[in-house]
Amino acid sequence: MLIIRLNGIIKKSPVKSVINKTSRKMKPETRQCQNCKKDFTIESEDFGFYERMEVNPPELCIECGMSRTMALRNERTIYWRNCDKCKTKTLSLYHPNSSFVVYCHDCWWSDQWDGLDFGTEYNPSRPLLEQINELQRKVPREAVIIVNSTNCDFGNNVRDSKNCYFSFQVSHAENIFYSTWIISKDCMDSHKITDCELTLYSVNLTNCYHSAYLQDSISCSDCYFSYDLRGCNYCLFCSNLRNKSYCINNQQLSREEYLEESKKIFDGSYKNLQNSIKKYEEIKQKAIRKFAFFIRSTDCVGNYLENSNRNFWSFEGVENQDVRYVASILHSKNTYWGYGIGVQPTENIFCSAVIKGGSMIKNSFNLLNASFCDWCDSLVSSNNCIACVGLKKKEYCILNKQYTKEEYKKIKEVLKQKGELAQFMSPAFSVFAYNETAANDHFPLEKTEVLHRGYRWQDDSFLTTGQETMKSENLPDNIKDVNEEILKEIFACVKCRRNYRIIQDELRYLKQFSLPLPRECPQCRMFARRAMHLPYRLWHRSCSCEEKSHNHDGKCLNEFETSYAPDRPEKVYCESCYNKEVY
Ligand SMILES: [Zn+2]
Ligand SMILES: [Zn+2]
Ligand SMILES: [Zn+2]
Ligand SMILES: [Zn+2]
Ligand SMILES: [Zn+2]
Repeated sequence: MLIIRLNGIIKKSPVKSVINKTSRKMKPETRQCQNCKKDFTIESEDFGFYERMEVNPPELCIECGMSRTMALRNERTIYWRNCDKCKTKTLSLYHPNSSFVVYCHDCWWSDQWDGLDFGTEYNPSRPLLEQINELQRKVPREAVIIVNSTNCDFGNNVRDSKNCYFSFQVSHAENIFYSTWIISKDCMDSHKITDCELTLYSVNLTNCYHSAYLQDSISCSDCYFSYDLRGCNYCLFCSNLRNKSYCINNQQLSREEYLEESKKIFDGSYKNLQNSIKKYEEIKQKAIRKFAFFIRSTDCVGNYLENSNRNFWSFEGVENQDVRYVASILHSKNTYWGYGIGVQPTENIFCSAVIKGGSMIKNSFNLLNASFCDWCDSLVSSNNCIACVGLKKKEYCILNKQYTKEEYKKIKEVLKQKGELAQFMSPAFSVFAYNETAANDHFPLEKTEVLHRGYRWQDDSFLTTGQETMKSENLPDNIKDVNEEILKEIFACVKCRRNYRIIQDELRYLKQFSLPLPRECPQCRMFARRAMHLPYRLWHRSCSCEEKSHNHDGKCLNEFETSYAPDRPEKVYCESCYNKEVY
């Protein structure tokens, strides 16, 4: 019997069971992670979602849980292999030695095959996941995920875009080269760029134009080697500035003085560029960092969020409401444990990756406009499917076998009774090795630990070496001394020896910005950029501010969750101290 104390009067409640259940559910619960054995808390807010989605709360801590959904997606580990249908050489997410059936883009999207031909009867005496795994090895897989795009074959996760080369996670974009996470036009060597035009070698920009070596900035144009600028034009080697023009080293100059100085910086020489990059690194180290990068977002815990509300452990998100434990997510509502979600609106997603439009999706990978799906892989415009792979425009299918609505419901009930539809994503569902996926970027693990946790590992990577026709040492120092003849040459990366070429668009951009030819291969450039970006992790820290002019005596006592690890050298400020220090 529940006892309620009201103004000192003890009352016996007649609705004990309901209140008991609710109050138990609403309390945070501490459990031990099945992977890393650390204690973790299931927040009270989470129980309602799990109940509504009819799933069990995870037995994993946040980091182990997030890495599990991220391990579903191979971002940019690509290989050459032959299409298993037309035999042409195609770029592929699947290692040439892997046992999957891989079709090139045209063959996969053609009407020449039907996923239902691979349908099998559900066997209730065997685990469902085992049966899905068998289907995943039989049904043709799309070599790289490219949707509704022209001239974008050399990349992955590209949709509604034109003319992209060696780019990944690209949407509604045009002329994108060697870049990741882009919704913009004319970008090269950049990461997380939205509504921008002409950005080179930059990270995390929104609404910027004609800029290079710029990071964490909004609404800027012609800014270079700078960090955290907003509303600035023509700035060089600056940080934490607001609405300024013609500044160098945070000093105001006249227009003429600025133009004179900037000419010296952009003289096209590789040697000079190295000095500028060194200075840029120093500026970034000294700049004041806000604990998190939020634009018009309220009630959020995470990083790199825009126009979002009530996000918790959410990273690189735009326009999301009530999402938790997610990364790289756009236009989503009520999504828990998701990676690579959007651009079309999605809602009620659980433990899934690469979901483009749809609702009520659990434990799935690569669905395009699908709803009410459990344990599905690579579906297009399909609803009410369980454990299906590679279906297009289908409904009421289980293990790629067609049923009537009534039959489907009956088998679904059996699966529910067995608890098969309430589970948290399993490593066995992923078609990629852990070190091929995004999980490895943010939560790197040793091979032995990867195998111990039930993931696969890929030993040999795709690396062409020794084909170079010109030594990097012999490259002209200045871009002015380079002509189109250079497009015929093959180079070896100074870091990893991998061979690479210069493409025509790249040369055009470099000439336009007066920047020298790169000495590192596109992959090494991508890794370096990834390192500039903070990981999808949070640490509880306190504000580093000791400014005497602020209202705190001694060190500021404000605390926050931040993606800056405690051992990083940057000054990380709370919102109020940061706002007092930016000009
Ligand atoms: Zn864990
Ligand atoms: Zn083919
Ligand atoms: Zn390299
Ligand atoms: Zn502070
Ligand atoms: Zn302060």
